[in-house]
Parts: sequence; structure tokens; C-alpha cells
Amino acid sequence: MSIKPEEISALLKQQIENYQSTADVYETGTVIQVGDGIAHIYGLSNAMSNELLEFANGRMGMALNLEEDSIGCVILGPYSDIHEGDTVKRTGRIVQVPVGEALLGRVVDALGQPIDGKGEIHSSEFRNIENRAPGVIYRREVSVPLQTGLKSIDSLVPIGRGQRELIIGDRQTGKTALAIDTIINQKGQDVICIYVAVGQKASTVASVIQKLESYGAMEYTIVVSAAASEPAPMLYIAPYAGAAMGEYFMHQGKDVLIVYDDLSKQAVAYRELSLLLKRPPGREAYPGDVFYLHSRLLERAARLSDDMGGGSMTALPIIETQAGDISAYIPTNVISITDGQIFLESDLFFSGFRPAINIGLSVSRVGGKAQIKAMKQVAGSLRLDLAQYRELAAFSQFGSDLDQATKTTLDRGARMMEILKQDQYAPLPVEEQVAVLFFATHDYARDIAVEDVARSGDELLSFMRDFHPEILAELREKKELSDELIQQLDTAIGEFKSR
Ligand code: ATP
Ligand code: MG
Repeated sequence: MSIKPEEISALLKQQIENYQSTADVYETGTVIQVGDGIAHIYGLSNAMSNELLEFANGRMGMALNLEEDSIGCVILGPYSDIHEGDTVKRTGRIVQVPVGEALLGRVVDALGQPIDGKGEIHSSEFRNIENRAPGVIYRREVSVPLQTGLKSIDSLVPIGRGQRELIIGDRQTGKTALAIDTIINQKGQDVICIYVAVGQKASTVASVIQKLESYGAMEYTIVVSAAASEPAPMLYIAPYAGAAMGEYFMHQGKDVLIVYDDLSKQAVAYRELSLLLKRPPGREAYPGDVFYLHSRLLERAARLSDDMGGGSMTALPIIETQAGDISAYIPTNVISITDGQIFLESDLFFSGFRPAINIGLSVSRVGGKAQIKAMKQVAGSLRLDLAQYRELAAFSQFGSDLDQATKTTLDRGARMMEILKQDQYAPLPVEEQVAVLFFATHDYARDIAVEDVARSGDELLSFMRDFHPEILAELREKKELSDELIQQLDTAIGEFKSR
């Protein structure tokens, strides 16, 4: 049998006509330029914003700039083995992370991959790292306290579940310590905690994890870490990844506490990406949408209505300031997004007032509703006394001849300041805080030397635990200082002082 040439050409023509390309410019692309963790890709016309892209060698990227015939993409991970001319495929998926109970007690990177050497995480559920925040009608007001265990915060700048409270201060002022104490204090409170470390030294993160472990707090905590050594895209997405993990629990009706430590470093990473992607720089060289970077993240903290399951996500973002300048670009942005701020000061920190909270500049705009009644009762006079004290203290520095009334106010204030001091890793249950603050506000510390006040506060507590646990139990139960309880407290403190 012989084959005629025209048959072959007909066959070829037919083949060519029916040829369907599986690789077209809509679904695949070619790297035209790569460097500094950024790849510019030709093609991929159908790619979505934030879509995961797969490079020829299996490395992942995320599409950020969607331009007319090319795409600006950040490479998630090391990028030295990606070259010009490599092909890139769409995955059709937005960047996702695993979520669920399997993550509790684990340390993961910004993509949810385990980095603690404890083996694979078997999670059946995934969530997009970017999700729209719940709308107004799906929310309800903040009314349940989230106890930090720190006297100065729970009394003066109380935090409620679902609130966003900023922790702001210079470097080394105890910002991380405050957040870690709060996580430790959630033991047995049915709150799931997520600690997102952004741009920190790996050794710092390791010591935080070790502390959480030693206080038994890792059982209910997830650590998401994007260390300083990692490429900027990982620092940029880590907070969103943490938020996605938290949202999963929130939508199940659980309470979640999430700490972003810290968002200044995320903003810097985002600035780096944006400049490399040739987005126009604005104030302090940040791109124009840097406000949106943090607002869309923090809006995701919420207290859901009962119809939605009643879960909550409380956010404690941390911002580092330079020389106490809270009016710089990023600090003012985040202050305006949150429901209040806890301002930590180096001067206070070094003068030994720790936690170094500047009471005058710190505020919580919604948490007051969430305070228990007993705490409101003692905190009311505390706030007033401290305000008077601050005013007089500044003024009396210049005068030596003070009248008796001024002296009394100063003495009282100095003792209250002492009673607010608290060591790291020693959060107190709310009833003990009330007892100790009662001791100070009812002037029982009047005849104690200022430098001994903090110690006698501690001694009072161990006395109460040993000899009057029933008063503490009743406080915990009733959450209110009834006349009867006030009398019992008076008597107990009398006993304590006459020992
Ligand atoms: P950085 O800017 O480096 O992140 P930071 O503001 O997070 O610092 P921390 O690391 O929390 O500060 O604290 C700085 C130091 O102060 C640590 O050595 C910590 O142990 C100590 N410290 C923090 N809070 C207290 C406290 N209440 N009592 C005693 N020491 C404290
Ligand atoms: Mg820190």
C-alpha cells in the first residue's frame, strides 16, 4: 500500500486546524525579568489579584500588579533558582493557609507550613488569607472582658472581646511582654490565641515560644512566624495568614485573641515590595494604599452577633515608634484604625515603672462596657486620683513648700503608681486585682513607705489566698463589691495590717 503525498498534507492540515493549545497567554506566562524577590511575567492575562502562581520549578508566587500585558508578582520564598524565560502557570487559587484545631500548639510560617520540626499538620480545611471583614449587621457591641491579667490595663484601659487595642511604644519598652502576659492569662478562659511574629529575630521568637511552652500556653496558641531573614513577601502576608486562622475559630463561635508583633515591620516590608513593583511612593516613601494594608487587616477583628454564632476575634496590633513619636505616618494610621491604644514609654520603663504604660496617653474607647462591676468600682477613684497626681507632680517639682492637701494627694498618687507595678509573667486574676486596688484606693497604704507598697500589695494577696479565699471566691462569683463584701475586705485588710 502506498500513501499519496496529498493525503499526508490533508492530514497535517486537519491536525493543525483541530490543534487546541493548552498553553495560552491567558493561563501561562513567561518570566521576563526577575530580581529582589519580584518577577515580571508576560502573559497570564486571566490572573486575579493575589492569585497563587506556580513557577516551573514548583516555587510559588503571588500576583500583585496586574498590568496590560504583564504581571508583577512577588515570589514566596527563595528566588535564586528562578530565571528569565521560565514558564509560570496560574493555579486559579487565591493564596490560602491551612486552618483548624490541628494548628494549635504549632509554629508555622506565613504559608501555614510547620517550622517547629513536629511533623506535618493534618488539616482538611483551608482559608484564603484575604477575607472581607464582617459587615455591621453581622456584629454586636463589645461587652465581654478580655482580661489581660495586668492591673494597670484591666483597671484603666480595659479590653473587651472583639476589640482592637494598639500597643505602641519605642523599642525595648515591654510591648511584646505585655502581649505575651495577656496570652498566658488566657489559660482556662476558653480563648484561642494566635501570635504573629513579623520581621523579628528568629532567636527572639524562639524565646517567646519557649516562655509560652513553660507557662502551658502553647496548648491553645498558634505561632505564625515570618522572621527578619525571610523575604519581604512573607512578612507582608503573615498577619493576613494569622487573621485567616483566627477567623476560622471566630466563625465557629469561639473567642480568639490575635497579636500582630509588629505591624511597623509589615509596613516596611510592604513598602519594599511596592517600590520594587514600581508603585509610586508617597509620604515617607510608603505607597498610597498603606492605610488599607492595616485597615483591612484590623477590620477583620470583630464580635459576631448571636445569629452568626457569637464568636469574637480581639486584635492587639503592636507598633514601634521612633523616639516616642506617635505622630509619624504609620502610628497615626493605626491609631485611627484601632479602638484605643496602650502607650509605653522608655522613661517610665527605665525609672522602674513596669509595665511602662503612660496612663495619660492610653485609652480604650469601648472596653469600659466590658469591665466587671467590681473593677469599675475601684477603678473609678483610681483614675481620678492618678489624674490629680500627674497634674500636681509635674507642678510640684519646682516648689518645696507644699500645703498639706497637695502633699496628701501626692502621697496617695505615688502609692497608687507603686501598686500598679507588675512583674512579667505574673498575670493576676481579676478578683485579686480588685482586692489589691481596693487596698490602695481605700488608703490602706497610707502609712507604708512608698518603696514598700508594691511588696505589701503582693503580701496582701498571698495573705488573702491563704486565709480568706472565700472573699476572693465571692468576688469572682458576684463580680460586684456589695456593702457586705466591702466590710469583709476591710476586716481582712485590718487583720493583714495588724499582723
Ligand atoms: P522590642 O522593641 O525589641 O520588640 P519590646 O518593646 O517588645 O522590645 P520586650 O522585649 O517585651 O520589649 O521587653 C524588653 C525587656 O524588658 C525584656 O528583657 C523584658 O524581659 C523586660 N520587661 C518587660 N516587661 C517587664 C516587666 N513588667 N517587668 C520587668 N521586666 C520587664
Ligand atoms: Mg518586641
